[in-house]
Amino acid sequence: MGNVLQKTTDVVVKASNEVARKGPNTNAGMAAAAAGAVISMVVVVKKRKKISKAITTDFPLYILTNHRSAVVTIFGLPMSLMWNIGLNLRSKYIHTFHSAPHLHNERIAKIQQQVLDRPDKNAPLCTARPGWMSVSLSYRNYKSKWNAIEMPLFDILEVDTDALIVRVEPFVSIGQLTHNLNPKGYTLPVVPEMDDLTVGGLIMGTGIESSSHKYGLFHELVTELELLLGDGTVVVATADNDHSDLFHAIPWSYGTLALLLSAKLKLIPCKQFVKLTYTPHHTRESYVEHMRELSGEHNHRDVEEGNGASERTKTEVPMFVEGLAYSLESAVVMAGEFIDAKDVPRGKANRIGLWWKPWYYKHVEEILNSKEEKVEYIPLTDYYHRHTQSLFWEMELMIPIGNNPVFRWLLGWLMPPKVSFLKISQTEMTRKLTEETHVAQDFLIPTRNLSEFLGVCDEEYDKIYPLWLCLHDHAKMPGSILKDPACPNSADGHEMYIDIGVYGLPRCVHEKREDEFNMKTAMRKVLKKTVEMDGFQMLYADVFSTREEFEEMFDHTAYRELRKKYKADDGAFKEVYDKMNLLL
Ligand SMILES: Cc1cc2nc3c(=O)[nH]c(=O)nc-3n(C[C@H](O)[C@H](O)[C@H](O)COP(=O)(O)OP(=O)(O)OC[C@H]3O[C@@H](n4cnc5c(N)ncnc54)[C@H](O)[C@@H]3O)c2cc1C
Repeated sequence: MGNVLQKTTDVVVKASNEVARKGPNTNAGMAAAAAGAVISMVVVVKKRKKISKAITTDFPLYILTNHRSAVVTIFGLPMSLMWNIGLNLRSKYIHTFHSAPHLHNERIAKIQQQVLDRPDKNAPLCTARPGWMSVSLSYRNYKSKWNAIEMPLFDILEVDTDALIVRVEPFVSIGQLTHNLNPKGYTLPVVPEMDDLTVGGLIMGTGIESSSHKYGLFHELVTELELLLGDGTVVVATADNDHSDLFHAIPWSYGTLALLLSAKLKLIPCKQFVKLTYTPHHTRESYVEHMRELSGEHNHRDVEEGNGASERTKTEVPMFVEGLAYSLESAVVMAGEFIDAKDVPRGKANRIGLWWKPWYYKHVEEILNSKEEKVEYIPLTDYYHRHTQSLFWEMELMIPIGNNPVFRWLLGWLMPPKVSFLKISQTEMTRKLTEETHVAQDFLIPTRNLSEFLGVCDEEYDKIYPLWLCLHDHAKMPGSILKDPACPNSADGHEMYIDIGVYGLPRCVHEKREDEFNMKTAMRKVLKKTVEMDGFQMLYADVFSTREEFEEMFDHTAYRELRKKYKADDGAFKEVYDKMNLLL
């Protein structure tokens, strides 16, 4: 806080001391009080600008920087609740009173016109969705300098349960979709966990969940994309039409080939519960091997070796597989299957999503400590949102008392605050601190290198735990920047990968030895290893590579040809590196 408030306070305190010393009822005392009041008035008038700055700027900054968790609790939770209520009412209104497909075409025409009429043809295009609304914790401020196109595309356009297809606009959120689909008995094969993630962000960027070992990354659900090119042309791209090259190149393009207007996604039938088996492990070797086995990757090997397992197919692997590592040598591996509500044994359902229940990763840690395998029956929506309340384990840093039973009972129903609120309530100082000490990264690595990569993370990030371990099937994506599988299996040319999610503070930062951690050094070492191990960094997070290193990780050959072909490289769109790199 500035000196002004301090000085004013000193004057008032001095005068009051004088009054107290001389007694308020004596003439001298009265005179001292009057003098004090006059001096205070003069100081306040003279320094009014500074005082008003102290009250309107310095004080809030001080509170936001030093008492952030109180701000998040007192303001962030109710504001997030109001925001959610507003969004729900809006989508109910649109659903009830408007024919969304008809309005979609009108909206597209307006968006197309904005692209054609953009004043500065040299500035690149991007969506006008504010950066603070993105679920990514990174700050990217290109929107103010570029041609930001207003795209009010928030609607589910059509649910076709016969064809098992849902058609959506890009800013439809995962929460909107699960609330619409699950009660009808359908789901997306891959449901990334946070309610606020958008279909557009997950297709243009990356989306992964515990069913991705079976269905691949989120973009594998897409059957059709409606796209707006830099020259204002609208094209529809599918895997086998004239624009199939564009269709395959869109994932991981981060909006640098075209703007997304709508997408058709595959659906599958679902049941209302998940039967989940938790297996605690106390050596790295055993949990790594267990996950690889559950992923189904060995099935191909079995087929090749002709050892009698030729009938084992990918459909036989569990629907959900996930690991939470609590140290280099300990983890819980979870395998889940859909199950009907009627088949859940009486009294065995665990509604983990109830507001007063412990944070999920804490619940799993208890199972690790018990050292015994456990089976639970969890409602499907609770399962999908198991890490939502605690934002994986990020909430512990924002609201350290958030998992306390009293807090959960009283305020748990308001959790979690919106990521967007957490971002806009940052001050320059907390933001800098976050950038320097807070790791929030996901690395996609072939499972054959998992054990070694875990060792690298343990050392370079100074024991950040838990780690999120989430498998995914990696297939060729011709034209995209993602490289093909380095060691494809001979059955279908795919390779099993795993996402290692590192979220939190290094141990030395926790222990107030911040000087021992250098984010850039650590990141660059891990990124180097990622490339050596045929892996990729998820680009929603901060990028620390030079252009050369980035191009070593991601193949730009076909991507650049497509940018030419689809008129993205004549100033309409920047390349991925230029859009996502923070070191620029
Ligand atoms: C706390 C937290 C939890 C997370 N949990 C998960 C998880 O469980 N699973 C998971 O897969 N990921 C998760 N992520 C990462 C997440 O995948 C990314 O943040 C993701 O890219 C989606 O965010 P978004 O929907 O806000 O999209 P944005 O960040 O807004 O968009 C991503 C990119 O796509 C582009 N884009 C979006 N829409 C369009 C459009 N219509 N046209 C052209 N370009 C467009 C944007 O310009 C941007 O480059 C998590 C991240 C955080 C911080």
